[in-house]
This record gives sequence, C-alpha cells and structure tokens, in this order.
Amino acid sequence: MSTSPYIGRFAPSPSGDLHFGSLIAALGSYLHAHSLGGKWLVRIDDLDPPREVAGSADRILASLEQYGLEWDGEVVWQSRRHEAYRETLDWLHRQGKSYYCTCTRQRISLLGGTYDGHCRCAGHGPENAAIRLHQTLPVARFHDELQGEFIADIGLAEEDFIVRRRDGLFAYNLAVVIDDHFQGVNHIVRGADLIAPTVRQLSLYQHLGLPPPSYVHLPLACNANGDKLSKQNHAPALPTGDPRPIIVQTLIFLGQSLPESWQDLTLPLLLRWAVTHWSLEKVPRKASVSYD
Ligand code: GLU
Ligand code: ZN
Repeated sequence: MSTSPYIGRFAPSPSGDLHFGSLIAALGSYLHAHSLGGKWLVRIDDLDPPREVAGSADRILASLEQYGLEWDGEVVWQSRRHEAYRETLDWLHRQGKSYYCTCTRQRISLLGGTYDGHCRCAGHGPENAAIRLHQTLPVARFHDELQGEFIADIGLAEEDFIVRRRDGLFAYNLAVVIDDHFQGVNHIVRGADLIAPTVRQLSLYQHLGLPPPSYVHLPLACNANGDKLSKQNHAPALPTGDPRPIIVQTLIFLGQSLPESWQDLTLPLLLRWAVTHWSLEKVPRKASVSYD
C-alpha cells in the first residue's frame, strides 16, 4: 500500500446538517490526507432514504465549502451506486458466501442480540428476507493508527452480518466497502463510533478479495451529559458566520497547535498552516472527549 498515493475521504450521511462532531471527522481526514500529499474525496452516504433530511446533502456540501474544505474530484452519491451493490450481492450469492434470512428482530433479541446462523442452510428465497454474509473469514482485531490494537467482541466478529436489509436497503457495511474500493480510498479517517464495525468491513474486504485500507478513528465530541454529539442528539448545525473560530476550536479538540495569531490569517492560510503542522501523535487517543 505504501506505493499507492494516499486517497482519503469524508463520507457524511445526509441525515442532518454538519455539526461540530462531523466537522472533527471532516477536518481530521482532510488534514491527515493533505499532510501526506494525498487526495481527499467526499461521498454522500445517502443509503437510507427514510432517515434522510431533505436538503441536508446540499447543505453539508455548502458547509464544507464555507469551511474551506475543498474536495478532489466529483462527489459520489451512494443512491447512484445501487447497480454496483447489486452486482456484488449477486457475486456473493453465486459464490455461496451469502444466504437469505427470515429471522425476526424479536428472535435475534431473544438470542441476546447476536445472530446464530439459523437460516444458513434453510434455503430461503428472497421474499421478505434479509441477506446475510456467510462468515468464513472473521476478523477479530486490527491495528488502528491512532487507537492502537482494537479487539472486537467475538460475537461481533463472527456473526453472519446483514449485507442487504429485509426492507431491501443495502447495508452500510456492504456499501462502504464497495464504494471505498471503487473510489480508490486507501486511508480512512473517521469518528471512533465506527471502530467496532471496522472488523466487519475488514472481513468483507477479505471475502471480496480486495486490499483493505488503513484506519484512524478520531475521538468523538461529547456534550456535558457525556452523549456523543450527533444528529440524533440534535447537535446544533455549524454557525454560518466566520468559520475560523470553529476551525480553531476543532484544531484544539484534535490536540493540534495553533498559529500565534490566527485572527490575522485568512481561512485558506489557516487551513494551510494546519496541514503543515498536522500531527496525528497529538490527537487524544481516548474514544471520546467531552466538549461543551
Ligand atoms: N456515512 C457514515 C456516517 O455518517 C460514515 C461512513 C464512514 O465513514 O465509514 O456515519
Ligand atoms: Zn435467519
């Protein structure tokens, strides 16, 4: 991998506006990519129409522009990638690496939340069924470039996880792997809320015979109650005024040093300074850091 040029990305879901928590992932992935001379792509993960907030994809892109985070190439939209997901699902099916499952959520919660492979040999058809990966290549641990060795619960690592939901929607783990590979992404920098599913994504890379990327999982910002700042928790949208104070706050959150008088720098110069001085070693390793 060291021979391929660095390609990173930011992949927001359009389920709300950009907020401080998502700016950490956006800025962190941007600075890390640029500090290593890489490209930084943007993908809109509009995989789940019922959870989409009208207009938020365009507002997210407008916020990125307002905050000076210019991306390379064209934005990729997951809603336009269904053909690729379908082809991969067909391939998995033909290879005997997946199967239809009709188990209810209720049955799985009675099992304690981890699926037991019940439908593996049942020969169900596609009607009213989810598709699960037949897990033969579980990944239980991986090295995160910031958090160090991550070891997953055995249930999480070995479960035949869902690749297409019963309602027909493609699963996040499937789409993220197919699209990151399609876009040539070889370095993923994102929030620590996604560290656990990484083992599933790594196992999918193996099942599909694709080279895996490297990973950095950044700390998550929490509010005073210790809840992760998220769209679900109604984290406020980023302010629309001068973005520089918010960029500075984000740099402080990420443990980075600041230029002596950032007030004198334009936004592009502040970002350029931050790229030059970016240091992954300085980022707090804790999975979450409180922030008010
Ligand atoms: N779209 C996902 C989210 O907003 C992130 C995907 C990823 O970074 O892997 O939570
Ligand atoms: Zn089942």
